[in-house]
Amino acid sequence: MDDAYMTFTIKKKKNIALIAHDNEKPKIIQWCMDHSEVLKHHNLYGTGTTARLIADKTGLRVKGYNSGPLGGDQQIGAKIVEGVIDFVVFFSDPLTAQPHDPDVKALMRIAQVYDIPMAVNRATADFMITSMYMDTEYDHEVINFKKNIRERAESM
Ligand code: PGA
Repeated sequence: MDDAYMTFTIKKKKNIALIAHDNEKPKIIQWCMDHSEVLKHHNLYGTGTTARLIADKTGLRVKGYNSGPLGGDQQIGAKIVEGVIDFVVFFSDPLTAQPHDPDVKALMRIAQVYDIPMAVNRATADFMITSMYMDTEYDHEVINFKKNIRERAESM
């Protein structure tokens, strides 16, 4: 592969973001209970209300950012860019309009750009959390942002 991409490593201990829209919060709490034996071995983060509810109901330690509508999704997107978060479970509500829909789209887009595993429903989350890669490092190719900046700067 040419230098348009760089190899990044998702470590054995994952940095997992947990987010759920209001109608989906019971589902993510149940999912965290069902997988707590796995989740407790990883670093957990979440948008404000989701993080608080998961911590209260499951006893898992979850670092909370701002509430989603107040910028929490954007904070998690920024952490993906910084290489801090490398795994996302986002139970978004497909049936209800959200005031922060642009933020939700932005988070999904940045997860694609950085090739981050991201589940948007329970089935995908079940497959991801039981993947063989949960127990090992995972190398993946991410866009070479240094080369990208150099070429863009040179072309202007
Ligand atoms: P919340 O945010 O966890 O603070 O409810 C989630 C969201 O709506 O994106």
